[in-house]
Amino acid sequence: MFTDKTLTCRMCGKPFLFPAAEQAFYAEKGFTSAPSYCRPCRAERRRAAYDAALKDPSRRFMYRCGQCGKTFVVVQQFRNPDPRVIRCPACVPVGMPPYTDDDRRLNEALGFPRHTD
Ligand SMILES: [Zn+2]
Ligand SMILES: [Zn+2]
Repeated sequence: MFTDKTLTCRMCGKPFLFPAAEQAFYAEKGFTSAPSYCRPCRAERRRAAYDAALKDPSRRFMYRCGQCGKTFVVVQQFRNPDPRVIRCPACVPVGMPPYTDDDRRLNEALGFPRHTD
C-alpha cells in the first residue's frame, strides 16, 4: 500500500506531493527512486534538454514517414536504425508515443510534415 508523500524539489527547494497513485505507477514501472523534482521543474528540465538538443544539429534527424511518405524531423540521441518503421507526428494520434507536444511544435514550426516533392 502507498500513502501520499511530501518530497522536496532539488531544483526550487519547494515541497511537492508524491501521491500514492504515482508511487504505485513508479513501482509498477520498476523505478526505484522517487522523483527529485516537482512537476513544474521537471517540465522545465525537459524543455531545457529539448532546447539544447534543438541547437545541436547532430541530434536532429530527418525521416520519411513509413505511412504517408512525408518528411519530418525528430530530435533524439541516435538515429533509428530502421527508419521504415517510423511514422510522422501527423500519422500518430496526438498524445500517443513517441511524440511529445514539443516534437509536434517543432515539426509545425519547420513546416513538417510535408511532401518532399
Ligand atoms: Zn521544483
Ligand atoms: Zn505520416
